[in-house]
Amino acid sequence: MKVFQGRNVVLLTKHKKDIAIKPILESATGCSLIVENRFDTDKLGTFTRDVERKKSQLETAREKNRVALKLSKADIVIASEGSFGSHPMAPIPWNLEIVLLYDKQTQTEIFGVYEGSDTNFDHIITNDWPSVLQFASKVGFPSHQLIMRPDKEQGKPVIKDIDGFENLEAAFHRCQKRSKSGSVFIETDMRAYANPTRMKNIALATQNLIEKINRHCPKCNAYGFMITEVVKGLPCEMCQWPSELTLKYIYQCHLCKHTEEEIYPKGMNASAQYCHWCNP
Ligand SMILES: [Zn+2]
Ligand SMILES: [Zn+2]
Repeated sequence: MKVFQGRNVVLLTKHKKDIAIKPILESATGCSLIVENRFDTDKLGTFTRDVERKKSQLETAREKNRVALKLSKADIVIASEGSFGSHPMAPIPWNLEIVLLYDKQTQTEIFGVYEGSDTNFDHIITNDWPSVLQFASKVGFPSHQLIMRPDKEQGKPVIKDIDGFENLEAAFHRCQKRSKSGSVFIETDMRAYANPTRMKNIALATQNLIEKINRHCPKCNAYGFMITEVVKGLPCEMCQWPSELTLKYIYQCHLCKHTEEEIYPKGMNASAQYCHWCNP
């Protein structure tokens, strides 16, 4: 029997995230995924800065799950929340996707993640049409939609759902007319249904969630036997002193609290380049 066989899982979304989550979750866990769209998730924050996200990414996902529990009779809920920005160390665009599941029956909370640079997240300010076309082609338009405003990132009105070249040209002329500087602000639309690359990343985060769910506690067999601590100190290959690399993972069962260690998850020794002594 699969882990959620015969149970309903409710997903709160108005951006069709079920396209990414439903097939993976249903086939792996035996659940039925039910979409709840009676709540406007944009109230919790939008990528276009119309509504600022007040809580952290994880807290926002938890908030969505709380709302889904309230609105539905289901006792398992799932939420997805993404963020976009720059890589912490390099000027490349970066996407972090979280898919958070909560099972009220056992009070289990598990999340899957995708983290990487595979995103078209970008914007441009321009006053000329060829540059608009060049930007559009670079970010995968028209399969990936665009958003446009006059002048700058806070300009009004905002034109969304630009999904074809006719739309794009009309939006450009409309925004230019309203613009004080003659320029328009164009950005990629990061809403899941308007962005196939993001949809794919949500699917990858869902797969990561499934991997975590499928690991069972060796003692009580509860699902979701998870890494709760990462311990550094893999010995250096040259001097055997502890390095910055991972020495072991600690797994803990959320139900019976049984713990296990996985030692040397990344090899027996660290390359000397990670050693404070050999490579200070
Ligand atoms: Zn257990
Ligand atoms: Zn060393």
